[in-house]
Amino acid sequence: MDKRVTEAVDFALTTGLIKYNTEFKLTHAPFCLSPFPLKDKLNDYLVNSTPVFNELMVKVGADKDFIKHYLEPVAATDDFISRLLTIYSETELSHHLQLSRNDFLIAADGETGELHPKQVEFNTISNSFLFLTQRMYKLHQHMSYFVPCGGTLAENNTLDEAVAAIAEVVQYYDKSNACILMVVQDREQNLFDQRGLEYSLWEKFGIPTVRLSLEQVAEQGVLKEGHLVVEDKTAALVYFRAGYTPNDYQSQAAWEGRILIENSSAVKCPSVGMQLAGAKKIQQILAKPGILERYLTADLANSLKSTFVGMYDLNELIGNQKARELAKAEPHKYVLKPQREGGGNNLYDGEMVTEINKMSEEKQKAYVLMERIFTPRESSVLVVDRMAEETQTVSEVGRYGACFHDGQAIRFNKDIGYLVRTKSSNQNEGGVCAGYACLNSLCVG
Ligand code: ADP
Ligand code: MG
Repeated sequence: MDKRVTEAVDFALTTGLIKYNTEFKLTHAPFCLSPFPLKDKLNDYLVNSTPVFNELMVKVGADKDFIKHYLEPVAATDDFISRLLTIYSETELSHHLQLSRNDFLIAADGETGELHPKQVEFNTISNSFLFLTQRMYKLHQHMSYFVPCGGTLAENNTLDEAVAAIAEVVQYYDKSNACILMVVQDREQNLFDQRGLEYSLWEKFGIPTVRLSLEQVAEQGVLKEGHLVVEDKTAALVYFRAGYTPNDYQSQAAWEGRILIENSSAVKCPSVGMQLAGAKKIQQILAKPGILERYLTADLANSLKSTFVGMYDLNELIGNQKARELAKAEPHKYVLKPQREGGGNNLYDGEMVTEINKMSEEKQKAYVLMERIFTPRESSVLVVDRMAEETQTVSEVGRYGACFHDGQAIRFNKDIGYLVRTKSSNQNEGGVCAGYACLNSLCVG
């Protein structure tokens, strides 16, 4: 094996850049040997846009009329969204922490070749890789001797920043015997990413974490004077690393666990309103003319618009044709998205066409048709399960944000780092743990 690959794999295994694979065997997280180059102008733009997007999404998540108006037609055929909407309607708006990640592909203009970041989606719940992305940066820092990046390796302290943000919120909550309640799934391939956050909170701030599934929250959690008590500790903050997919709600007890959390005084990360604001349907509406201006000044609104690509309701007219007919005529130009998170749910090409043909008019309202973003390819060495392969790749850049709203106003709102996922260019989806994409970092210059 290439000496550089051995060096990098050993570093990954030694420093916690690890995960379970699909057979639940321990392995290093897949990674890219050398960082992804990004022009500093584009990088600066993305960093600066994070607090603006956060402000927008916090306001959208608090706008009950807006969320209900646009998600009720979806809820008619989507039971998951329908149940979340019910919880949202029945709970008061209150303090919440948003640990967001805004994902972009860097598209090349068809005529000039100029590069522009285009938003894939703004994620509001269960954003993973806070720990692993910082480990990835450390790996590239270590490897810079063997693999120089040709610019400046962009510093990435996402975990440290997220932990500091959580600690500040726990301090604000100001309760003795406080803990973080991390809502988790049973069998989690990306366990170590969560553990990294947990151990750092304990080591740096003495804040313990209780890990429970939604069912366990229902069984064990109790409300005492409005505070959520788990394992004899008060949950100052509930951090969702589960609860974003219907699979996490296999029983009525799981929903009861969610409702118990929502009815408690704990700071939610995120609130149910923020979770719904992250729906793909809401992203489609935000890109319509005049909507951003309801929430942001004209200047700030304008600063975000260049990142949007066309997103449509399948029944919407584009010119004189329905969006669904355009999709069927040129499927390679579009992606069809249901209101789901976590990867593997979007439809492409022939599968998309078959599905559109099968769907009732009612069901079509639960989907969003998005223009496909085409990015220039680069050549990269991907390292998966200790095997290195040089291949044509595309990369997706996510910016993490931390934004705390205390119920009255935003207390802090900042960019806290990045995630780069690099995948071979013939793959449609991008999730690292689904085995599709490799972690990477940024070389800016
Ligand atoms: P999920 O919430 O399941 O992660 P996303 O909308 O983020 O769904 O899409 C998953 C992946 O599919 C993205 O990370 C990206 O790689 C790819 N993808 C999504 N939308 C587009 C698009 N418009 N053009 C090209 N690729 C896309
Ligand atoms: Mg996504």
